[in-house]
Amino acid sequence: MRGTTVKTEAIVLRGIRYGEADRILHLYSKTRGRIGAIAKGVRKPRSRFGGRLEPFFRLDLILHEGRGDLMTVTNVATVDGYPRLRSSGPALTAGARACDSVLRLLDSAEPNPPAYNLLCRYLSLLDDPAQSRAAELETALSFRLKLAMAAGFAPELASCARCGEAEHLVGFSGAAGGVVCASCEAGSFELAAEAHRFMVEALAQPLAEAPRAEPLALRQVERSVRETLEHHAHVQLRAAA
Ligand SMILES: [Zn+2]
Repeated sequence: MRGTTVKTEAIVLRGIRYGEADRILHLYSKTRGRIGAIAKGVRKPRSRFGGRLEPFFRLDLILHEGRGDLMTVTNVATVDGYPRLRSSGPALTAGARACDSVLRLLDSAEPNPPAYNLLCRYLSLLDDPAQSRAAELETALSFRLKLAMAAGFAPELASCARCGEAEHLVGFSGAAGGVVCASCEAGSFELAAEAHRFMVEALAQPLAEAPRAEPLALRQVERSVRETLEHHAHVQLRAAA
């Protein structure tokens, strides 16, 4: 077979059944960013790939890169299957939304180690029974903020995104890409101080220590991230909860 051999660690973001027994995989890899791959014969009962090529699996992969758009999976070993995540409804939903966000926001073949490590970290938290808040909205929104930052689209939170004013930050503008002051609030929506604080703290703290906030503030946080990514990354995320 002509082509090159690629070894990388990757998370399965999505799998699509293809043909009689194959599966097409959307992978987010540690060293090659997004990868599209085909696993041949994976749906046969005695496939050597076993049940590993399913969403959320963290894998060590060997792939064949030929001339086509898709690489071919030739070998696979499990790094982590996150079995407890799979047995919890809320954790599964949160994990699926996280993978969907990565799928929409990070589509280049450039590696992004902070984004890769963040996704692995979140899946580990969702898999850990001691992390009772992992599947909550606060952690999901902290993940989104950190993912936006890793992708280069963190909202401006320190001063007005339009004029630089550091006081009287009363609104958020997705078009401006951050908080805005009272004189620049045209086209923005009202941002509670609690929502502003949540975003600052979420970006500063580890994912396992997501700040807490009331539902109204969390809705504003979600809208801030969503509108920033719509305007600047041209990406629409699904609802966080
Ligand atoms: Zn301003």
